[in-house]
Amino acid sequence: MLAGNAGVYIHVPFCARRCAYCDFYSTTARSVPPRFVGALERESRMASDRFDGLDVGTIYIGGGTPSLMDASGMERIIDAVRGSFNVSIDCELTVEVNPGTIDARKLDAYKRAGVNRLSVGVQAAQGRLLSTLGRIHGWDDAARTIDSARACGIDNLSVDLIYAIPGQSADDWRETLDKVVSLDARHVSCYELTLEPGTPMHARYEPVDESISLAMQDDAMRILSEAGIFRYEISNYAKPNYESRHNERYWMRRPYIGLGPGAHGCVGSERFANPSDLDGWLAKIESGKPAWIITETLTRSDAMFETMMLGLRMIKGVDIAAFQREYGAAPLELWESELNGMRRAGWADWDAERIWLTPRGLDVHNAVCLKLSG
Ligand code: SF4
Repeated sequence: MLAGNAGVYIHVPFCARRCAYCDFYSTTARSVPPRFVGALERESRMASDRFDGLDVGTIYIGGGTPSLMDASGMERIIDAVRGSFNVSIDCELTVEVNPGTIDARKLDAYKRAGVNRLSVGVQAAQGRLLSTLGRIHGWDDAARTIDSARACGIDNLSVDLIYAIPGQSADDWRETLDKVVSLDARHVSCYELTLEPGTPMHARYEPVDESISLAMQDDAMRILSEAGIFRYEISNYAKPNYESRHNERYWMRRPYIGLGPGAHGCVGSERFANPSDLDGWLAKIESGKPAWIITETLTRSDAMFETMMLGLRMIKGVDIAAFQREYGAAPLELWESELNGMRRAGWADWDAERIWLTPRGLDVHNAVCLKLSG
């Protein structure tokens, strides 16, 4: 039996249309082919042979656009994971949903299949910004999706938003936040737009000035916290007890496995990855062989660094006693001079139980990691 409560991530690499900023692995399709669902079922069984006895506490079906999947495909995938692993009764089961690809009937069927949390790709409340991003939906579609989800009994609703979009004013951003609050979302992710090389937006626009994006982040913290939705990670906000349990597993370095093309996993000291290539993945799985390769075997010092790097993304920071139990070493001794320097700079702080980054430290999380890796 592998220790710890694990997560399963399933990547569904199909989208109705490519968004203008996206560099995730996905291909365009109107629906998810049954052949893909069959291959995921086989891969789930292979993973269960490889990771015998893994306890699963969260399942996250992301993409791409998993909501292109019909009800029976969703049911088959969830049943396959349940049949392959010890899935806990209170498993958090999230599906990413893009407005414009789902209706009340499909949502109801997802709910019956066991889905109990949705992450809805709202992104912005203004039609002109949604079209800059190349999204296929409007605000009304997003609001309707959220209302339908709640009507069919899924109230653990997360909303994804993007800020620092070229042409987005401070008022646009505040209006988006206010509208999301009015939808009674339990969880909000606010991602700063990065213009990734190779995307249409990278060719067309200059990045927004850092001072503007930092001011937008401040607005998010203020408006959401006034609504009882508190920042618990660099980009994530939640009402109490609605934090994403799946993502917390990543930040706490718990084991997770990845199914589907382009998915990653990490169990113990080994990192795995499937090829970001649908045909290559299908060919491997259908020939009865796993598609994943071991991409990295972490040393103890890699694992200690990762525990700090990921744990410091969370507002609550790193649990000192848990770190010591796992590695037999104290973080305040391992990084004594770096942490003292960061405390003097106002980036980090600690007490007897935890080490955490201040808001200023969270803004420069990359620089913090560089110091800890040095
Ligand atoms: S829906 Fe998501 S994964 Fe698909 S193209 Fe848009 S941003 Fe990328």
